[in-house]
Parts: sequence; structure tokens; C-alpha cells
Amino acid sequence: MAAIGDMFYTWAADADVLKRGECGGAITALQQYALKSGMVDAVLAVRKGADLYDAVPTVITDPAEVAETAGSLHCGTLLLSKVVKDYLDANKTARLGVTVKGCDTMGLIELAKRNQVDLDRLLLLGVNCGGSVSPVAARKMIAEKFEVDPDSVHKEEIDKGQFIIEYEGGHKGIKIDELEDEGYGRRSNCRRCLYKVPRQADLACGNWGVIGEKAGKATFVEVCSEKGANLLDAAMKAGAVNTEPANPKGIEIRGKVEGAMLGLGNKWRKKDFEALASDVWGTIGHETGRCIKCYSCIENCPVCFPVAEEFKGNSRMITSGEVPPNPMFHLRRFAHISDSCINCGQCEELCPMDIPLALFSHAIRTESDSAFEPKLGKAPYSN
Ligand code: FAD
Ligand code: SF4
Ligand code: SF4
Ligand code: SF4
Repeated sequence: MAAIGDMFYTWAADADVLKRGECGGAITALQQYALKSGMVDAVLAVRKGADLYDAVPTVITDPAEVAETAGSLHCGTLLLSKVVKDYLDANKTARLGVTVKGCDTMGLIELAKRNQVDLDRLLLLGVNCGGSVSPVAARKMIAEKFEVDPDSVHKEEIDKGQFIIEYEGGHKGIKIDELEDEGYGRRSNCRRCLYKVPRQADLACGNWGVIGEKAGKATFVEVCSEKGANLLDAAMKAGAVNTEPANPKGIEIRGKVEGAMLGLGNKWRKKDFEALASDVWGTIGHETGRCIKCYSCIENCPVCFPVAEEFKGNSRMITSGEVPPNPMFHLRRFAHISDSCINCGQCEELCPMDIPLALFSHAIRTESDSAFEPKLGKAPYSN
């Protein structure tokens, strides 16, 4: 019997899923089992779209299609919480199995705080996350730094501190540190991220800590809730996945890697926040002076749900039709997300004027978090 806190190496029993999966296909096999057994009515996962820079969220109700979503896509910019809300709103009693990164999990928790999603209807299969790269930045980095045609790349991965590509004619890996020193690499919000192992999900799955002959062929699964334990138990009994206890040395290594990644995240926070602190108002005023009031930052923020309309009309503080908007437009948005910014980076990445919005919101949120309880994503909302 699996219990909260247990750790396993897990891999798919089905040969096709085993082959397609990023690290043994455990998540795909578990999603498939949850759907087949009726634990969930649909699965939300991510599949490759036009190319590997195009990560497409997909709701699936046919277990046979789940295998098409196997594999990790690091170059998509995705926030799944809005898709989840739309699905739950449209399907009033349905339950959904979702593969989530740390920021996706946090987005869902923040939506639950606002009564926008019911976490009881969700089965969250978390993936550890060292970071993602924006599709545009990934293409630029591959062309300029790797000197490879981005269209010839058929696989990318982040492993052992390197961004690695496989392309027609070879493979190349470059250290993330080196890439980031030169302005390439992970999205800036990912550098500051501290949600590396998503323990707020029902299971936390990743490749860190898988050593020995199972390295690359199995996923390290940490059981984080009763729901997660039930899924793993039932899938084991049904023969959908195989497991063995995680190697103690592997557990130790995973802990060290997680610690190192958290240290790196804190280093980036210090660097980014200190640079901003030298002239907060000046920087925010200067940067937001380019705003064309397209509302993308509001519409794509998981936390601004569902009040985007409030920002569009006239209010006591905001005049419609004013471009660039009065600073109150931005102040109001910052106030709105100051207790919940999950540093997902959507606002910044989707701003057509390249305003570093996530940096501003994240800095504000982090300051509040140091003073108030409960901390972001913590009790009473965590598992
Ligand atoms: P599979 O059976 O291959 O299933 C993978 C699941 O992930 C599928 O449901 C797929 O749809 C979904 N998925 C793919 N891309 C995304 C995405 N961008 N966002 C949300 N869901 C997605 N593990 C670590 O230990 N350390 C890391 O640093 C690390 N970084 C990662 C970064 C990203 C962006 C992602 C997506 C995963 C990362 N992982 C990391 C997890 C690891 O790559 C595997 O996903 C995990 O070990 C499960 O392997 P599997 O074979 O069981 O998954
Ligand atoms: Fe991963 Fe964190 Fe970036 Fe989300 S914000 S993609 S969890 S590193
Ligand atoms: Fe302004 Fe950028 Fe927000 Fe659009 S996304 S409203 S340009 S800050
Ligand atoms: Fe994400 Fe930006 Fe909203 Fe923060 S303010 S939660 S970074 S979209």
C-alpha cells in the first residue's frame, strides 16, 4: 500500500507508453489508468503541435489517445489553470486528471481560493520543473548559440544542468549557467521559481534521483496525498505501472538537486529584486509608459480571474480609451494580484510591449509573502 511520503521508481507496463514516455511513461500510464477505470472523466495533458516549440493543452476522453501526450515539452509557455476552469465550468460534475508543473498547481490553488475551481474534482499529477524556455527565445538560442537550424531539432531536454538538443545530424548540450550568463536560457520567471517539486499536487514525478539501471527509464514518484496514493495503488494492482522503492542514494541525490535548484532560484530573486529596488517607481513608471492597454496581461493572468472586464470600462480610477493608461491602471492590477501572484510569467511573456510585468508582480508578492499568512499555496489549501 502506498502512503503519503512514500517514494517509488515507477514506469509504464505497456511497451508503447514506456517507449514514448519522457522517463518510462509513468504519468501517461497513470493518466490512462485513471481514465479507463473511471477515476476521472477526462484527462488534460499537453501534446506537440506544429513543432516542438508548440505545446498544446488537450482534453482527452478516449484512453487510447492519452499516449499521444507522452513526453516533456520544455519550450511551451503554458498556464493550464484557465483550461481547467473552463472544463470544470462546462462539465458541472466531471472530474479531471491534469498533468501540472509547480506554477500550474499554484494557479489552481489560487483559483480555488477564489471559488473558481473545486480541487476535489481534480487529480493532479505533478511534474518536477527546472524551468521552461519561451518558444521565441528557444528558436533564437538554438540558431545563435547552438548554431543549429531550430527547424531541424526533433528533441530537446533539460538534464544535468544542460539544455540539450537532438537534431538531424547530431546532438549538442550547453550548460544552462553559460546560456543564462549570455542572456539565453530559461524564462526569467522560471529562474526565480521555487516550486521545483510540486508537493501540492497528488503525486510529484520527475527524473531527479533515478539512478542505476533505471536512470532515464523510470520516474521518481513521491506520493503527496491520499488521492495520489489511491491512484498509484490501484494502477499497480491493475498492472498499468510497475514500481520499486526509490533507491536511498537516489533519494539523497534528489534532495541535493532540489536544494541546489532552490538556492539558484533564491540567487536569481536576490539579483532581480535588488536591481529593481534601486529605483522601483522610476523603473515601473518608465517601463509601463510603453503600455498600449491591450489587456493581455489581465486576460492571461490566472489570478485576475474573472474581473478583466472591470478594467476595461470607466471606473473611478481608470478612464477608458486612455493610451498609455494612467499609472492607476497598473497600480490597480498590482493591487489585485499582490496576494496571489504565482510568478507564472504569462503577463510578461504575452505583453506585446515587452514590459517586465512578472518581475514587478513577483517582487510585490514576495514582499507581501514575507509579512502575511498563509504563505502562497500553503495551508489550508495544500494537501
Ligand atoms: P510521460 O509519461 O512522458 O508524461 C509526461 C506528461 O507531461 C504528459 O502528461 C505531458 O502531456 C505532460 N507535459 C509535457 N510538457 C508539459 C508542459 N510543458 N507542461 C505541463 N505538462 C507537460 N523532472 C525533474 O526531475 N527535474 C526537472 O528539472 C524537470 N523539469 C521539467 C520541466 C518541464 C517543463 C516538464 C514538462 C517536465 C520536467 N520534469 C523534470 C519532469 C520530467 O521531464 C518527466 O515529465 C517526469 O519524470 C515524468 O516522466 P514520465 O515518463 O512519467 O512522463
Ligand atoms: Fe517550471 Fe516554475 Fe517556470 Fe512554472 S514557473 S514553468 S514551475 S520553473
Ligand atoms: Fe499594457 Fe503590456 Fe498589459 Fe498590454 S500586456 S495592457 S501592453 S502592460
Ligand atoms: Fe502570472 Fe503575471 Fe499573473 Fe503573476 S501577475 S500570476 S506572473 S500572469
